Amino acid sequence: MAKPAGRNTLCQQYHMLIEEPVSPLLSVAAKPQKLWIPKRVLFTPEAMEESFGQQIFDRVSHLGLPVEVLKNNRLTNLRGEDEKETYRLSKTTMAVVTAPPSAMKLQPIPPSADWQFHLAQGCPAHCHYCYLAGSLAGPPVVRVFANLPSILENTKNYIDPLKPTSFEASCYTDPLGIEHLTGSLAECIRFFGKQENGRLRFTTKFANADSLLQVPHNGNTRWRFSLNAETVAKRLEGGTASLSQRIEAMRKAALPRADGGGGYPIGAVIAPIMPIENWEAEYTGLLDKLEANVGFAKDLSFELISHRFTPGSKEVLSGWYPNTSLDMNEATRAVKRNKFGGFKYVYTKDVMAELRHFFESEISRRFPNAKILYWT
Ligand code: SF4
Repeated sequence: MAKPAGRNTLCQQYHMLIEEPVSPLLSVAAKPQKLWIPKRVLFTPEAMEESFGQQIFDRVSHLGLPVEVLKNNRLTNLRGEDEKETYRLSKTTMAVVTAPPSAMKLQPIPPSADWQFHLAQGCPAHCHYCYLAGSLAGPPVVRVFANLPSILENTKNYIDPLKPTSFEASCYTDPLGIEHLTGSLAECIRFFGKQENGRLRFTTKFANADSLLQVPHNGNTRWRFSLNAETVAKRLEGGTASLSQRIEAMRKAALPRADGGGGYPIGAVIAPIMPIENWEAEYTGLLDKLEANVGFAKDLSFELISHRFTPGSKEVLSGWYPNTSLDMNEATRAVKRNKFGGFKYVYTKDVMAELRHFFESEISRRFPNAKILYWT
């Protein structure tokens, strides 16, 4: 079970912060991030009956996006002439639907959190190693759940009244990547802000932090950023915010503001870690940036995830990104089996040990107060 790290009060954090010099790297990230604008937004009749669905409808209509209310609750006509066309159509479509009753039966998600729930499934970005490849069936349309208030209410059934219980919201989507269209993440943060023992965790590769800074999180949400070496971010993470923009957003999220906003517990999810050429120098560059920008944060966690793939995810990703430079050569990998009979390709024992040693020793040295939650 992932234990949420201890938290400092906003007041303590503020005093720690004002003693810190402003980072010289901040200005580098000043360019605004491009937000995802879908080419079509579909609503099912059931989604339109939900008041939260209506809110999303008003929001996207106000933005002038092409909105279509479907005649029935099934999403059809999502495929193009071939896989390439299906991918292109899907990644430019947002469908607002209601999550099925099975969404109310939560699943554990070790080592990240106690439970997972979903505010959406599908992601607008184009990472060549995407974790969703092979785990979500059908065309990769972004499906947003209009019955989010009921989904959140249901999480109360899973909160241990005696100790903090954590909920992961980013297993099947990047929730910040769609926040400007849905407001779903703010809804979740506000909800968990009111739960004595409920803790929310989410991860993002986006940087549009501003709309969340004022949401009353009460220290119950850990806002994590998925980060990587600059070369990996540039080559393999299409449609996301740049590394500098993510780190700037991370700093903003952690920074307690005079108006009461910010001050989130934060986290760095360094993933997927790859022994690319000059990997030590590349990841040193990332840790240098982190140290300069969020070294002040007293509630900072790290999650370290090495790259892995399955035969199924390789097949899907090779179709989506046929020209990728992502290394998925089985011959250089070790096989890791799970208790259900499946397996994945991971790095060999020696490579894993070398990478792990580098990250654990560098992080402990640079961020003595941070917690490394796990290496995998
Ligand atoms: S941000 Fe995450 S979910 Fe989205 S494409 Fe990249 S890896 Fe996949």
